[in-house]
Amino acid sequence: MKQTLATIRRLLGPAGWVDEDSHAAYLREWRGLYHGRAAAVLRPGDTREVAEVLRLCNQAGIGVVPQGGNTGLCGGAAPDASARQVILSLERLNRIREVDDADNTLTAEAGCTLSVVQEAARSAGRLFPLSLAAGHQTQIGGALATNAGGVNVLHYGNTRALALGLEVVLADGRIWHGLSGLRKDNSGYDLRNLFIGSEGTLGVITAATFELFPLPGQEATAILGLQSLEQAPVLLASLRQATADRIVGCEVMSRFSIETALRHVPDCVEPLEGSFPWYLLLQLADAAGGVSLEERLHSALSACQVQDRIQAWRIAADEEQAAALWHLRKSIPAGQRGEGGSIKHDISVRVSRIPAFLAEAEHRVCERLPGIRPCAFGHLGDGNIHFNLSQPAGMNPEDFLRRWEEFNRIVHDLVADFGGSIAAEHGIGQLKPAELRRYADPVALELMHGIKATLDPRGIMNPGKVL
Ligand SMILES: Cc1cc2nc3c(=O)[nH]c(=O)nc-3n(C[C@H](O)[C@H](O)[C@H](O)COP(=O)(O)OP(=O)(O)OC[C@H]3O[C@@H](n4cnc5c(N)ncnc54)[C@H](O)[C@@H]3O)c2cc1C
Repeated sequence: MKQTLATIRRLLGPAGWVDEDSHAAYLREWRGLYHGRAAAVLRPGDTREVAEVLRLCNQAGIGVVPQGGNTGLCGGAAPDASARQVILSLERLNRIREVDDADNTLTAEAGCTLSVVQEAARSAGRLFPLSLAAGHQTQIGGALATNAGGVNVLHYGNTRALALGLEVVLADGRIWHGLSGLRKDNSGYDLRNLFIGSEGTLGVITAATFELFPLPGQEATAILGLQSLEQAPVLLASLRQATADRIVGCEVMSRFSIETALRHVPDCVEPLEGSFPWYLLLQLADAAGGVSLEERLHSALSACQVQDRIQAWRIAADEEQAAALWHLRKSIPAGQRGEGGSIKHDISVRVSRIPAFLAEAEHRVCERLPGIRPCAFGHLGDGNIHFNLSQPAGMNPEDFLRRWEEFNRIVHDLVADFGGSIAAEHGIGQLKPAELRRYADPVALELMHGIKATLDPRGIMNPGKVL
């Protein structure tokens, strides 16, 4: 190993080699759940260097942990404790290679952050719609590797839906040049979709071509207060109809989730007069001008209130008010940290089944541990709820977190009963391989192992993750 690392060090030069006393930033995982050690932290500067690093690591049997912005929530970018794996950071692959006006596409290297890609698209008068709260740090390579969702999936789809092509370095150092940018290509198996969502276990994504969209000509944001969530799926469906499908995001927030943000995050304000058990945050966008989006939304919401589907609502009067509503939504994860220990579930069920699922899940966890505080929020529009559980007030956080598996079982069994997914958008990483083994279709698992063995026969790619 020593000799291989020395060769790699010479190859990458000082810019590509992180000294040991600076490793900490790469070992720090967002939630602080995993603490590993690395034999080396490598920062190759281009695809060719990534390929050479993988070729050498493969020859020497050294485990490689690809790392993007390190904002993943399943420990996928953290090495194990052996100090025998290397972290391969993509941060120096940060060039926008091309924005093509005629094709409406953008090609960027894996280490570009979502914010940088959004800005590059905006400069060209286009929209790159992938948006999530950590976008200033999340890299497109990481977003592709986890098939991230975010707040606009309802309208634009997840990362997979936006990607037209990939460039990938395989475990043995070969490069797959898949940046075709084609909208139609049925020539054989779909390799692009194999690498998207593979969490660094099949290869290293070094660049991607994305589809771009028209920039919205007008936008509207509204907050709704609901006494019950029961009608929410039908409400959303009718609002989509009434606004000619201009809703790009529909986020749900429980009262408790909002309270965590109000209590612990600066600049969060009550979104409505009065208090409601549930809130919906709606985002609308329209590429064209014409009929005012706000008027359309106003009349649709008024009609819903007459039918008693909504108890209160407010349309943001300007960009500042809209930003304040989104600030509140995006502050919930930070707010939750202020409430002590938190057990997370990133689940999805069919949109129509969310109310029944949440009612039953809350009942079961509260029965098991009186005083536990369910903190449900997330992307109602695509059926993905972060059904997190805050510890009872006053309980020792460690005692609570020791019961992580017990509550996983309650919640994930229920997800399975509802025909849902135990890993909706954050992935598996090292947090959920056992859960995947427990709930996945056995044939699907067998196929996944077969694919892994074919693409990474020596098992060097992100060992211990996913499978
Ligand atoms: C505040 C906050 C809000 C979030 N909101 C959302 C949300 O709304 N929706 C959502 O889906 N997710 C959300 N996430 C989690 C999300 O999965 C990550 O933010 C993101 O997708 C991971 O990107 P990253 O660059 O940080 O990757 P990392 O965390 O560095 O890595 C994630 C995984 O991808 C692998 N990987 C990274 N780069 C590459 C590459 N170039 N090639 C191959 N493998 C690679 C890693 O090995 C690891 O397994 C949120 C996270 C935070 C902290």
